[in-house]
This record gives sequence, structure tokens and C-alpha cells, in this order.
Amino acid sequence: MSSTRYVSTRGAAPELGFTEVLLAGLANDGGLYVPQSWPALPARIPGATYAERAAQVIQLFVGDDLPADTVLRLCNEAYATFAHPAVVPLVQLHDEHFVQELFHGPTLAFKDVALQLVGRLFDAVLRDQGRRVTIVGATSGDTGSAAIDGVKDCANVDIVILYPHHRTSEVQRKQMTTVQSPNVRVVAVEGTFDDCQDMVKAMFNDVEFRERMQLSAVNSINWARVMAQIVYYIAATDLLAGPINVCVPSGNFGNVFSGWIARRMGAPIDQLIVASNANDILERFINRNDMSAAPVVPSLSPSMDIQVSSNFERLLFEMNGRDGGLTAEQLQRFRSSGSLSIEPDQRAAHLDGRFQAARLDDSETLEVIARTYREAGMLLDPHSAVGVGAAEKLRLLGTLTGTTVTLATAHPAKFPDAVERATGVRPPLPPHLADLFDLPEHLTVLPNDLAAVQHFVATAFR
Ligand SMILES: *Cc1c(COP(=O)(O)O)cnc(C)c1O
Repeated sequence: MSSTRYVSTRGAAPELGFTEVLLAGLANDGGLYVPQSWPALPARIPGATYAERAAQVIQLFVGDDLPADTVLRLCNEAYATFAHPAVVPLVQLHDEHFVQELFHGPTLAFKDVALQLVGRLFDAVLRDQGRRVTIVGATSGDTGSAAIDGVKDCANVDIVILYPHHRTSEVQRKQMTTVQSPNVRVVAVEGTFDDCQDMVKAMFNDVEFRERMQLSAVNSINWARVMAQIVYYIAATDLLAGPINVCVPSGNFGNVFSGWIARRMGAPIDQLIVASNANDILERFINRNDMSAAPVVPSLSPSMDIQVSSNFERLLFEMNGRDGGLTAEQLQRFRSSGSLSIEPDQRAAHLDGRFQAARLDDSETLEVIARTYREAGMLLDPHSAVGVGAAEKLRLLGTLTGTTVTLATAHPAKFPDAVERATGVRPPLPPHLADLFDLPEHLTVLPNDLAAVQHFVATAFR
């Protein structure tokens, strides 16, 4: 196994190895790291578990930065936290439509698949280097709890998560505040999610503070998260013997880009379907070549309420024939004009025929939850329902044929109000979270003030 090198999508940052990319997050030219070349998919070893398949795939991207027995151990530990022996089980909805349940992790959303592994990778790498970092992040809900759960047992990582006070669901808040671990702090900021995110950015831009605190991030642009997500696409094609289509409820484009990589590596995936809610910038781009940002509209699927999909930059880099200069220039224009246009031949080579998209508004989402419960007895959360509904729409249009797998990205009990509204059934929390509402909460409420929050971060773990 040789060293795997990573390049920035904006072409002006140094090439790095896996462990450096893991800890850096963003490249120092503002770009995102991707491997210098895409490896070929290795054949599945008969009888391999999900964790063993994960270790085999992930080793290709880690190279010799970590030994194979370490990678396998971390994968085994990460996926042992899932409450289902198949980790990401496939459930059949119709003759040719399957749902892959990615929500059996500790915090009930697909982000656990990546963050349970990424927390352990951080800890192993930092221990080797004798270092310690403080992860600081802002969350509107799912990412914060998944990140906290992924690092709560890490010896070399402290974490501070900021969330907007009174603006998350009760389940989401309790999943963060009931974790009792000496390396975890949860801060309710008297402001909006954007205020939280701006404060995180400001702390990272304060170079002296960043260095002194050894700040680090695990947001969705982190390469290791994208990497860990490739595995369940491969696992689905292993089982269904492909070719399959995969339909992905999308926000930041990280998940569906992982599917693009699985296909690029040789997994038998035909169509990748981007499912959007009313925040449909990706759907408009794929169907109408219109990538213009609009104001964010709140929906029943809040984790997809995103207008600028940060991971799209990785696909854009590929569409540009890996020309980092051109990618940087296009993104600059997007930032200044609010709209991005792609040459038709660029689209033809990389999108046409292999990507499809559909969008559902909230009332369609509720209809899909109700219908799926009536017909198949399955409770879908609103994000997963956007996916199932998008696949059904395209099948009716006749553009989608053959076996399709829709990714179920959250457990229905994470969004019980919408599920109850659609079906009359209030989905119970699974056994491992049944006592969530009885546990004491630990949080600090702070004003919407950078100096106060920064002081808290600096002194929280003394
Ligand atoms: C984060 C999230 C998404 C969106 O995933 P992206 O990788 O940002 O496209 C969809 N559904 C749920 C439940 C999520 O938590």
C-alpha cells in the first residue's frame, strides 16, 4: 500500500496525506480535498461483515498512514454502536424499490455512519502524534448530536457545539445535552443558526486563537465523512448485485457525492437521484441548469434546508476536468453574482444521463409518509419521505427504471410530529434512547456575542 495523496479543488494548496487532510478539514486555499486519483473497487471477500467491507474500502483512501489492523479495529468499534446487526439494512417497499436504513446509529441519523468512524480516526491519529484538538462546530440539529456522540469517548479530543437557543427540536436538543462526558460542552446561543455559524467561522479566522486552542472541525466538507459514506452504496450493490439506482435526500451534496465516488470506483450504480425539498437549488441545477441561490425556506425536513451545497464543489472540480483554477474562478463568480452557469459540454460529460433530480414540498412529503405507512406498513421520517417520493415521481415519469434504493437518512422517531401528523402514529424512540426524556441536561446559555463564546471555549476544559 502506497501513500495516498490529496489535492485541493482550488488547486493552490499543498498536497497532503490522509491524516493531514483528516485534521485540516478545509484546504488553506479555501478548497476541499479530494484524492489525487480514484481507486478501483476491490471485490468483496465472501462472508465479510459491513465493518470488514468498510475497512477494505477505507484503507484505499488512508494508504499507509494507518495500519490495516488499526483501520479494521476502528471500523469494528464504530459500527458496533449501531442497533442493527446489518448496520445499514435494506428493506423492500415495492417490487423494485428498496429503502436502505442508515439511521440505526446512536443519534438516529445517517451522519452517525461517518461520525462514529471519524471521531475514532481523529483519536487514533492524535494519539500517534501526541496532540490534542478542540472541535468547535455549529449545528441546527443533526450534526451536533452525531459529532458529540462520535467523540464523547475520545481521549484526545474536546468538543464544543453551538446551537441556536429554543430553535432545535426537543429530541435534537436532548441528544446533545444529555451526554455527560468531561470532553463535551454544549452551548445554547441566544441567536440563530447563522449567528452560531458566523461565530465558529470567526474563531477559525482568528489565527492566534485557532493555533492556541488547536481548533478543528468535523463539518460535512471533511473528506473523511465523505469517504465513510461511500461504503453503504457499495454494500447495497454487493447485496442487490446491481446495476441499481440510488435516490438520496440531499442538502449539502455530501451524501450523493459519496455515491458518485462509489460509481466512479466501479460499483454498479446507474442513476444517482438528488431528492430536494422546497430548497431546490440542486434540483433546478440538474433539471434546468439553473444554480442560483434563493432564501432558505423552513421545511418539515430541516436537515435539507440548505441553499448553497458546500460539497457540490467536489463534483464541480471533476466537471472541470480537475482544473482547480477554473473551479476557484467559477465559485468566485457564484459568490459575487449568486448564480453559477456551467457549459453544456461540461454538463454533458458528467451529468447527463447519470444524475436525475426531483423535489417535494411539505404537503407531498406528508402524503408520501401516509401512503408508505398505508401500503407497506413502514414509517418514514420526512427526509427519507422526500427521497421515496422523488424516486416514485421519476418512476411515474418513466425516466427511472430497474431496481432503486432510496436512502433513509433519519429515524422516524427523530421527527415524531410530522410522522404523527401524516399517519396518526407517534413513533417511539428505540430502546437505547427510551430514557432520553428522563436524563438530566447539561448546557450553557450564552448571549449572541463572539467575545463571550470565545472566552467560554478558551476556558471550558481547564
Ligand atoms: C444531513 C442530512 C441530510 C442531507 O445530507 P447531505 O450530505 O448534506 O446532502 C439529509 N437527511 C438528514 C436526516 C440529514 O441529517
